[in-house]
Order: sequence, then C-alpha cells, then structure tokens
Amino acid sequence: IYTVAIGIDRFPQIMTAIGQSATNELMAKLGARLDQHTDVRMTAMATTDVIGILVSATNGLDGVDKILSYVSHPIAISGEMIDIELSAGCCIIGLHSALSPVDEAMVALQQGRALRQRVHLFDEQAYGDPSSTLSLMSDMVSGLSDGSVYLAYQPKFDLRRGAVNSVEALLRWDHPTRGKVSPDTFVGFAEETGHIRPLSQWVMSQAKADREIMAAAGFDLKMSVNISGRLLTDSAFLDWAIAELGDACERFCFEVTETAVIDDPKAALANIERVRSAGIEISIDDYGSGLSSLSYLKQIPAQELKIDKSFVLSLQSNSSDALLIKSTIDLAHSLGMSVTVEGVETADALQLLQGMGADVAQGYYIARPLPLADVLAFFQAGVPSIRQSAVQDRPSLAN
Ligand code: C2E
Ligand code: MG
Ligand code: MG
Repeated sequence: IYTVAIGIDRFPQIMTAIGQSATNELMAKLGARLDQHTDVRMTAMATTDVIGILVSATNGLDGVDKILSYVSHPIAISGEMIDIELSAGCCIIGLHSALSPVDEAMVALQQGRALRQRVHLFDEQAYGDPSSTLSLMSDMVSGLSDGSVYLAYQPKFDLRRGAVNSVEALLRWDHPTRGKVSPDTFVGFAEETGHIRPLSQWVMSQAKADREIMAAAGFDLKMSVNISGRLLTDSAFLDWAIAELGDACERFCFEVTETAVIDDPKAALANIERVRSAGIEISIDDYGSGLSSLSYLKQIPAQELKIDKSFVLSLQSNSSDALLIKSTIDLAHSLGMSVTVEGVETADALQLLQGMGADVAQGYYIARPLPLADVLAFFQAGVPSIRQSAVQDRPSLAN
C-alpha cells in the first residue's frame, strides 16, 4: 500500500486568482473525483493544498501516475473551468520509520517537485538524517570555541607584480570523530539550519584578527572572505560586518557567487552597494559554474572576477574551456575587473593562463590553503623559485 500526497501545482497562484472559498471547493471536488477511482482506498485532506490517499501498490508508481491523469482535467467552480496540474509524492507504508507515512509522502512531494517529476517515491538518502544534521550543527558550535573549526588561508599570486598580496580565508573543520568535514557540506547545513549568521560572524572576526597578525609580521595582505548568498540579503549582518571590520574594511574583499545575486537581485545589489561604499572590495566567485548572464555581471560593482576551478582544471584537456576562459578574461577586463583564476595546479596551467591575460592565480601549484602558522612560514620563506619560470621578475612578497 502507498500513502500518496497529491498536491496542486502552482497552488498560491490559483488561490490568488479565485480566492479562498473557491479554492476550498476546488479541493473538495478533487477529493470526490479521487474517491471515484477504483484503486483509491481512502482520501483525506492533508493540508490546505494537499490531499492524502491510500492506494494499492500493485501497479507501482505507474498506477499512481494513471490516477493523476484520471483526475487532472479542468474542474468547474461557479461556472468557470479551472485548469489543474497535479504532482504526487509516494511512500511505501512500513518501509521507513523516521517519519509518519503522511509526512514521508509530503517530503516525497517536495522532492519530486524539485526534480520536476510528476510522481516521486520518497528518497531516504536524499532526505538524509535530520537528527544527525542537527547534532552536526551543535558540534560545529562547540568546534568554534575548541579550535576544531579554524580558518586556512590560501595565497593569491599577483601575476603582474610577481607577488602574493592577498589571501582567501577558507573554513576548515577537523571533526573529532567524523574527520575532516568539507566546508561545502557544513556551510550548506549551516544555511539550512539557521547557523550561517553566527558562523559567518566568527569567520569575519577571526579573519580580521589573523590579518592583523600577518600585518604585524610584515605581511599586510588583502583578505578575501566568502559571503554566503543567504547573507547577501541580510542587511543586519552586513551592517554588523562593516562595523566589525571598521578601519580594516579597505583591506577586505567579499567573495560572492552570482547565484546569490540572481535569486533576489534588487536586495542583493543594494546591499553590495552598501558594502562597496564602506570600502570593501567585491569579487564574483565561481564564475562560469552557474547560469551566468552578462547583464547581471554588469550590474555588480565588482573589482574581481574569479573563474571557477572546474574550467581551469580542464584547461589542457578541453579546448572549449580554454576559449571560454580567454573570452571571459577579455570581457572582465572590458568591464574594468581584475581576473583571478582558481584551481591552478601546474606550472603549465599557470603559464597558459598568464598568456591569456589573467591577473591573479590561486591554486595548489602556488600554495594550498594553510593554517595561520603555516601561511606565515610560507611568506617568510619567500615564494619558491620554481614559480619563477612563469613570471617575469623573481617572485617576492609585496608588503
Ligand atoms: P571557493 O570560495 O570557490 O574556494 C575555492 C576552493 O577551491 C577551496 O575549496 C579551495 O581549497 C579549492 N582549491 C584551491 N586551489 C585549488 C586547486 O589548485 N585545485 C583544486 N582542486 N581545488 C583548489 P574548499 O576550501 O573546500 O572550499 C569550498 C567552498 O566552501 C568554497 O569555494 C566556498 O564557497 C565555501 N567556503 C569556504 N569557506 C567559507 C566561509 O568562510 N564562508 C562561506 N560562506 N563559504 C565558505
Ligand atoms: Mg571563494
Ligand atoms: Mg570559487
């Protein structure tokens, strides 16, 4: 037996168009239609826009799809024919235990919609284990104070000056039992669970303090920090960050991804302007990995464009990537931006990219992201001479 959650697509739009009471009538008529189908054992309203049904699983998901086709023709509401499209989330009763069958079917409905599948069976793996995510987050909060969460700094090499004059702060977490947790994973979890603001505040304060330590050691570098897309529309956070950095604003750069801007351009752009006028530089991170559009690029008052490492990594094996990088560099330059290439792992890649006019290189070939003490040691040793071949003058550190 399946428990199936049947939802009306674009429900908010329908509700706005015909009103609350007509929508209730629509749901009642849909429920009655479902009841008439011979495979449907029971129907019940699950929420205002979802009807729960029980059906025999003998015909599989195809059987559910046939039920949807059977009922999704226009419904007459006070003389008007209302077009409906339906989606279904299914759960096999008794197979999982974490959620009730109805909740599981509701989650399956959301999962299916995200995948644009009309009928979707609950995917336990995609759902993950919410309780383990929550415990991970409480571990993270303690990690912020016990040192298992820390920042690593990756040097950015200025190809024109032959010197490192900035670093990117990257979160690291050595979890006591899980081992190294990738920032992509836990930054994502922090965003989902409402922990991104405190985490980002910690990053900002730590990066500021570490930058001062580097400056005191003679390396007064520009500090780039990644700003979660969620926070780009959080004015309170940005006000806090500007106040926290104070005089150091001029020495900071915020790396933002284009997707953050595409989601809510108006709010994001207004906030970026605010950050800019405080003296903080803006960098567009991971360029090329999303649905970049030139018109958005032009609107963002960025000083730097970072070409995503996926292109750089396949530079030698894929000539269309090389073409894309070259034209992106030219485009960014014509918009007045400096271009950083990330993911530079070999001398050959560095040479190629320099030939294409890239301004700054970042990657394992120059240095991996390093804990504060190690990055200081790297600076003190001077940039190793193996890098010489790729640059005109002997590389050195700019102060
Ligand atoms: P990102 O900002 O694009 O950072 C660059 C990533 O490329 C880093 O991954 C870095 O370790 C990696 N990388 C650098 N050079 C090379 C190379 O030569 N080869 C290869 N294969 N990879 C290279 P990492 O440290 O795992 O960080 C992943 C992402 O997590 C970052 O991507 C960023 O989006 C996010 N992240 C890291 N720290 C923070 C943070 O403090 N706040 C926020 N919101 N996001 C962060
Ligand atoms: Mg970045
Ligand atoms: Mg990047």
